[in-house]
Amino acid sequence: VSASIADARRHSQRAHNFSAGPAALPLEVLERVRADLTDYQGRGLSVMEMSHRSAEFIAIAEQAEADLRTLLSIPDDYAVLFLQGGASLMFSMLPMNLSTAEQSLAYALTGHWSVKAVEEAGRLRDVHLVEDNRAAKHADMRDPAGWEVPSDAAYLHLTPNETIAGIAYEDRPATALPIVADLSSVILSQPLDVSRYGVIYAGAQKNIGPAGLTVLIVRRDLMRAVDGLPKQLSLKAHADAGSMLNTPPTFAWYMAGQVFRWLLEQGGLAEMGRRNTAKAAALYAAIDASSLYSAPVAARWRSRTNVPFTLADPALDERFLAEAGAAGLVNLAGHRSVGGMRASIYNAVEQASVDALISFMHAFEARCA
Ligand SMILES: *Cc1c(COP(=O)(O)O)cnc(C)c1O
Repeated sequence: VSASIADARRHSQRAHNFSAGPAALPLEVLERVRADLTDYQGRGLSVMEMSHRSAEFIAIAEQAEADLRTLLSIPDDYAVLFLQGGASLMFSMLPMNLSTAEQSLAYALTGHWSVKAVEEAGRLRDVHLVEDNRAAKHADMRDPAGWEVPSDAAYLHLTPNETIAGIAYEDRPATALPIVADLSSVILSQPLDVSRYGVIYAGAQKNIGPAGLTVLIVRRDLMRAVDGLPKQLSLKAHADAGSMLNTPPTFAWYMAGQVFRWLLEQGGLAEMGRRNTAKAAALYAAIDASSLYSAPVAARWRSRTNVPFTLADPALDERFLAEAGAAGLVNLAGHRSVGGMRASIYNAVEQASVDALISFMHAFEARCA
């Protein structure tokens, strides 16, 4: 009984955090990190204060990679890289490393982040769009099965979960090209067949760990030495150096490893997939049953991870956010480009937080009626 009271007290100091990123981290992970913060396992110093070349840190780094490989069943012919610069640097590095100046690239433009990826790729190469849903304001799109992918492009780039508009798709168009996927907001949210991809990349700050780290999973044969490319921009140079070409973001790498361990303890990605499906189903059901709230994205493309919704009267938005905040529900404002609300319900956001949001939404609707 006393353990559960202590547990409840700890949780009660924590907000229900629906931030899109940097996003909620599991409380168990934060507490373990705190326990080790000033004296990592009797070494007399913190992980932040160790050489990245020390035996202690090498062990931390290798364990993180091994646990990620277990979680995603990553085949041996894929390298795992722990880099910096965010997903955004990859918008430029991937064209530089995976194509020659003569080659064109195929991109699906489905939301804010693929717009950014297309813009950066377009500075370097000819970009062919296999989908462009700007006219639908990124709230609807054509079925990927119908996208026509040119066979002579170097790769096909997808953003299968658009974090801002909340549009997502599981299907992949028919193509023999390597698929390069920005999975920043959905990596580790459910099982994934890595062998379907040439490159998977993700900024850590949504579903992996703190900001400052970018995780890449790259089929090794796609990485080559590129003439004239600065070493820090070369994927092959980073891979050859074990992601230690220069000082890596050691603390973020360590925390990512703690999150991977936590995911394994929770039952792995099949279990996370079950939880995430249940959380999203409950929230969309509440939105659909209400006359105050509505979800703008076409039903078949709804993201299970980032759930945008609007209020019938936008004049109520500010009051909704203020009262939600007072109830301990934070970071619910939609992206400045979209407005309305957005609840990001990553792995670390528990069903209890989603339930608290739904209860609040019901009560708010009743007060406004
Ligand atoms: C957040 C996000 C990004 C940007 O990530 P940075 O690490 O800030 O560069 C890119 N793509 C997607 C899908 C995202 O959710």
